[in-house]
Amino acid sequence: MQKLASLIRAVPDFPTPGIVFRDVTPLLADAGEFARCIALLAEPWRDARVQAVCAIEARGFIFGAALATALGAGFVPLRKPGKLPPPVVAVDYELEYARDRLEAREGALRAGERVLIADDVLATGGTLCAARALVERLGATVLGASVLIELAALPGRARWGNAPLHALLSY
Ligand code: 5GP
Repeated sequence: MQKLASLIRAVPDFPTPGIVFRDVTPLLADAGEFARCIALLAEPWRDARVQAVCAIEARGFIFGAALATALGAGFVPLRKPGKLPPPVVAVDYELEYARDRLEAREGALRAGERVLIADDVLATGGTLCAARALVERLGATVLGASVLIELAALPGRARWGNAPLHALLSY
C-alpha cells in the first residue's frame, strides 16, 4: 500500500486556500500500480454478485469503469447536469457553499439490480450519498461503496452510515 500511497500527490491550497487536494493522476500513469489498485478495490466485492458499478463524474469514471470490468459488471455513469440526453433522473444535493446535481439515464438500472457505487475520494460524503439516492430512485439496490481515498477528518463515513464502505487509503 506504501507504493500506491506514494503515487498520490498532495497539493496544498488547491482548488482553494486551506484545501489539500489529493491528485490521483500519478497513480493512473503507473501501469502496475493502477492495475493493483483496481484489483484491491474489487477484492471485497468478489462474491457480492455486483451487477452494475455506478460512478461519479469525472474521476470516479476512471476507477468505476475499471472496477466494473474486474467484477464482470456493467457500468452506469452518474453525470453532472446537462451532459446526458433526456430523459434523465436527477438528484440535487448540498455542497459546502452551493448546490449540485447528479443525473442518470432514465431506465439505466433494473428494479432490484445489485449496484456498487465508486468514486476516487470520499470527503464530506455529499457526493456519495447523492449517488446512493439517485441509484435508489432508479429502483436498484445499493450494496455499498468503494473509494480509493477517504479523508478521515471529514464526516463522509458517518454521513454514509452503516452500509459497507471500503477505502484503500485514509488520510
Ligand atoms: P464530497 O462530496 O465527499 O465532499 O467530495 C467528494 C467529491 O469531490 C468526489 O467526487 C471527488 O472526486 C471530489 N474531491 C474532493 N476532494 C478531493 C481531493 O482531494 N482529490 C480528488 N481527486 N477529488 C476530490
